[in-house]
Amino acid sequence: MSQASAEDRELRIAIDGPAGAGKSTLARELARELGYIYVDTGAMYRAVAYKALQAGLDVQEEADRKRIAEIAAQMEFQFEWQDDQFRLLVDGEDVTEAVRSPEVERLSSPVSAIPEVRQELVAAQKALAQVEGVVMEGRDIGTVVMPDADLKIFLVASPEERARRRWRQQRERGISRPYEAVLAETIERDRRDSTRAINPLKPAEDAVLLDDTHLSRREMLARALELVEEVRRKRGR
Ligand code: C5P
Repeated sequence: MSQASAEDRELRIAIDGPAGAGKSTLARELARELGYIYVDTGAMYRAVAYKALQAGLDVQEEADRKRIAEIAAQMEFQFEWQDDQFRLLVDGEDVTEAVRSPEVERLSSPVSAIPEVRQELVAAQKALAQVEGVVMEGRDIGTVVMPDADLKIFLVASPEERARRRWRQQRERGISRPYEAVLAETIERDRRDSTRAINPLKPAEDAVLLDDTHLSRREMLARALELVEEVRRKRGR
């Protein structure tokens, strides 16, 4: 490959971190700024939880867990920009808002801990990660889905700050819940996500850690764009 084409090649960017660390905002803005494809893997796990709820399945039941994995294996995911808004379509149905409900949110973590569900979704995500010019966000993107990503960012923020953001987001959607309940859920979700047996949440060895507790959206985006430039410069050498 000539130097110019290596430099020009579009990047594959992984953004990981715990719930509420601002991954979605950063990943979406970065994808928009660079004209890249954006893949929200958390929304994929949420969509499986949504389908499980619709089917009346109980994640505590062994037989139901098997059924949930079968459903996951058959789901078709489509990510689209519509009127500058990012949408997720599953089997042709727009589930963008539906996957944000507190019920789906609660179920998404235990659903994502089912090994067969992870196997199915990781395979689907690896297929989506084949393209150049992609920003993919989740928990295990830099470690499992795109271990060869050109840039890996691991976002962190304090549990209190992340719970505050979730509480505010839910309130904006008309869901009013005590802040303490949201904080307790945030801590519980962190515990589950980082202690589960397969693909636990942890930074890849070569990830850049960014703490956005005290950074604005603009500052985060500017920092991420600097990192993109650094990767491109190194390539050009
Ligand atoms: O990021 P978000 O909160 O939408 O993720 C929903 C759930 O999906 C999380 O609780 C997490 O357990 C799970 N998840 C995962 N692996 C990913 C992305 C999300 O296990 N790559």
